[in-house]
Amino acid sequence: MAKELLKIENLNVIYKTDMETVYAVNGIDLSINEQETLGLVGETGAGKTSTALAILRLLPDRTAHVTDGKIYFEGQDVAEMDDATLRAMRGGKISMIFQDPMTSLNPVITVGRQIAEALVLHNTEGKTKEQIEDRVEEILELVGIPASRKNDYPHQFSGGMKQRVVIAIALSCNPKLLIADEPTTALDVTIQAQVLAMMNELKEKLKTSLLMITHDMGIIAQTCEKVGVMYAGEIIEYGSVEDLFEGKYHHPYTEGLFNSIPNIEETRDRLEQIDGLMPDPTNLPKGCKFNPRCKKCMEICKEKEPPVYQEGQHRIKCHLYGGMNQ
Ligand code: SF4
Repeated sequence: MAKELLKIENLNVIYKTDMETVYAVNGIDLSINEQETLGLVGETGAGKTSTALAILRLLPDRTAHVTDGKIYFEGQDVAEMDDATLRAMRGGKISMIFQDPMTSLNPVITVGRQIAEALVLHNTEGKTKEQIEDRVEEILELVGIPASRKNDYPHQFSGGMKQRVVIAIALSCNPKLLIADEPTTALDVTIQAQVLAMMNELKEKLKTSLLMITHDMGIIAQTCEKVGVMYAGEIIEYGSVEDLFEGKYHHPYTEGLFNSIPNIEETRDRLEQIDGLMPDPTNLPKGCKFNPRCKKCMEICKEKEPPVYQEGQHRIKCHLYGGMNQ
């Protein structure tokens, strides 16, 4: 049976200032096994990035607070890790790829030195300078960049090539978990497809688990085995990709996301849209947080927090399925 690598239980994150409190993550549960890919999908402001930053304990110290919940990595409570364990985990065991390769790279340092930096920082095996240099060349080749380009600067690369360098840095220390936060959003569509294909290939080759954060259902279908649909800081639907794409029951928000995807076989004049906006995270609606936008909203939805309906691994948080568990 696959070993559990990451487990999140009832995670709650707020951002607090003198003026207001932002409820960013509101009680999420998820798990990722070794060599598994989990996707978190949802609109901007759903709490996806806050969840990723909480895993690495990278939330801003002064404003962000984890008010409840636990995060376990390899069975260890991340909140209890000492500084040395935390340093070894960040970049060594868990790496993160950020959205925009243009701002992830230092423009005045060659790409080879930027890859070597991570290797030097996590050099637990006492590698020599030459061995680190060899690894830099190896990892560049792995992401499809000729090793001879290691002395080039980021401005000499295209957007897609820069994102390949960022992926090379993230993979340089053979992490057990790779967190990719919208890794292809800043790229054009053809380059996006190449980068996703490369990430899938590398994941298989290096046996890495992947947490893929995206707003794009197409990316979920191409890369993930499990998926959590996030809305207003909650996972409102969770299950395997088959559950989500072929399942009998869906959360109305997930249905809305599906209806807004273009389909080459359909002849709709217009794509459907989900009316309205994500609720203000400082003042979330009572009851179901999706109720102001939901076409199936009932009276109970405006008053009572929905229960979670579960069938196997598939969970849906919605009053429509409220009675089905009993
Ligand atoms: Fe819609 Fe009610 Fe379900 Fe919320 S609980 S998604 S408002 S039907």
